[in-house]
Amino acid sequence: MSFSAAKWRDRFPLLAAHPGLHYLDNAATGQLCEAAFDAVTHHDLTHRANVLRGTYRLAEQADAAYENARQQVATYLNAANAEEVVFTAGTTAAINLVAHAFGEGLGAGDEVMLSLAEHHSNFVPWQMLRARRGVVLRILPLAPDGRLDLARLEEHLTPRCKLVAVTHASNVTGAVTELVPIVSAAHAVGARVLVDGAQAVQHGPVDVQALGVDLYAFSGHKAFGPTGVGVLWGKAEALEQLPPFLGGGGMIGRVTPGETTFAMPPRRFEAGTPPIAQAVGLGAALDWLQAQPWADMHAHTARLAQRLLEELAVLPGLTFLGPRDLRNRLPIVSFNLDGLHPHDVCQVLDRHGVAVRGGHHCAQPLMDFFGVAGAVRASLAPYNSEADIDALLAGLKDAMRKLG
Ligand code: PMP
Repeated sequence: MSFSAAKWRDRFPLLAAHPGLHYLDNAATGQLCEAAFDAVTHHDLTHRANVLRGTYRLAEQADAAYENARQQVATYLNAANAEEVVFTAGTTAAINLVAHAFGEGLGAGDEVMLSLAEHHSNFVPWQMLRARRGVVLRILPLAPDGRLDLARLEEHLTPRCKLVAVTHASNVTGAVTELVPIVSAAHAVGARVLVDGAQAVQHGPVDVQALGVDLYAFSGHKAFGPTGVGVLWGKAEALEQLPPFLGGGGMIGRVTPGETTFAMPPRRFEAGTPPIAQAVGLGAALDWLQAQPWADMHAHTARLAQRLLEELAVLPGLTFLGPRDLRNRLPIVSFNLDGLHPHDVCQVLDRHGVAVRGGHHCAQPLMDFFGVAGAVRASLAPYNSEADIDALLAGLKDAMRKLG
């Protein structure tokens, strides 16, 4: 299958309806693909019922659609089986689930290792766990280009470490984490590895078995699926060891007034009515993505990102946050223009039809590391084209003229 960005763009209803929109905020949210849009509509029109409760035909159809979505997620992640897939409200909910369920077994002196490049959703739940249970947080420092400094891994990963929670790719620099050495060092001290996959899933299927990680979290909306749904994948034996986090309907074995026994994973972690239609939409999005020509799409976004890096580099007063090359990096480019506030730059860009984000990107420790309060970020998806980069560069030159 050969790849055409214009044809791909046509498969995204919002983009197809707004030909003048240069959407370059994909790290915040990917646009909803037609496959997901259709699946959600079809589900609500034909199979809408609560799941895992009813025995009438409609309810059984809803169950089948929901469990089919679980299988579609499992396939995208190359999970050993669908029971390893827990539907959550998103990455943040998935990480909080682990911080509570895994955190329940931790106490004073136990350690959790993070990196300085984490999104707030992989910092704050651990700081809250520290306040509840007295665990020690170890923060892996960064090399000057913002990549995790693996040379310092040994120093920060002690035998007291019980969990390593790191991002698969930074939402600011796009740098992809080298997980293999982290996983082997963590497993050597008996620690589990949780990966924040929020950014990575948008850029093609992930193989959790090849990565060797124990737990993997991501959000549907970043993978061109619906909002309000996400996933915690966990190795069966890792999930089985975790107690539930939220209690309620759907997650029980038997309830008496005195006590409750709990269902096996994944249901143990899906208390209450789950985001059913959203899960169905996410499954459809991933099923569609799975069949796309990723090698061609990566070459396409890398070409655009390379051009962007080269043309930004010659703008006077421009500084990048993160690596200057594209090695092991997603097509996410963050930068500042000397003396210009990122929000002001974004406002001028908006007048050019360019949607990019400016701010701290929920990564204030990383902003502090780079010595800035915020940055402008352009994040590319396969539907982006040379025209989007042209508009961004023209808008930036206009911003420099107007604001400089
Ligand atoms: N981690 C990373 C790396 C992210 O980019 C994001 C979203 N910006 C999140 C976690 C949180 O995702 P959500 O808000 O969908 O829970």
